[in-house]
Amino acid sequence: MTISHSRLEENLRRIRQRIAAAAVDSGRKPHEVRFIAVTKYVDSPEARSVALAGCSDLGESRPQELWRKAEQLADIPISWHLIGPLQTNKIRRTLPVVSLIHSIGGLRLLAALNEEAQKQQRNVQGLLEVNISGETAKQGFMPTEVAAIVARLDDFPHVTICGLMGMASAQARPGQARREFASLRELRETLIQQFPSAARFHELSMGMSGDFEDAIAEGATWVRLGSALFDENGF
Ligand SMILES: *Cc1c(COP(=O)(O)O)cnc(C)c1O
Repeated sequence: MTISHSRLEENLRRIRQRIAAAAVDSGRKPHEVRFIAVTKYVDSPEARSVALAGCSDLGESRPQELWRKAEQLADIPISWHLIGPLQTNKIRRTLPVVSLIHSIGGLRLLAALNEEAQKQQRNVQGLLEVNISGETAKQGFMPTEVAAIVARLDDFPHVTICGLMGMASAQARPGQARREFASLRELRETLIQQFPSAARFHELSMGMSGDFEDAIAEGATWVRLGSALFDENGF
């Protein structure tokens, strides 16, 4: 996929406008909602254009692709977000380049991240991915499992969990995506009341090109946008 620089800047402008409008509509401040440009559909030159156009939070769903682009764009300041599955054999190379891992969806991954982070003398920032749609194809903890994980976070001192991530149903009926986002917001509130270690759960990563306004209405602090940004026909 390629896209002209002027189209990209125009899409970015429209996205920022719609994010700000959605925030204001729900009584929030525009700066409370940040967005990640998901660059998985494009190659490094387009990803570079996005960063140079002022969006320095970039997201990839595959670790190898994240490594590759991070290396090719090492000359500009970018915060890299991993938004897809992370296999344990890819943790070692991912930690030095990633700023936030949105997709911590299993206890084994959490434990492996902690172990490798300790080895590398780093702290990893991450989100617990929750399967809010109930679709079997989706990754993540089931909502009912999350409290037991949060209760054990002290066992993983090299991983700082700073919130929750979720994806709405792929074929959501009207109103369904918003209800699913609301369930993630409510889960976060319940956890904060229950567990001291959830006091730092400031982030809610939810909302993609087709549903980000619903996500913002339900409290998203990060939205993850790919196709909206790279749509050659305008967004
Ligand atoms: C691809 C992807 C996105 C971006 O999706 P768009 O609909 O293209 O905006 C967001 N989050 C995750 C986890 C993804 O894999």
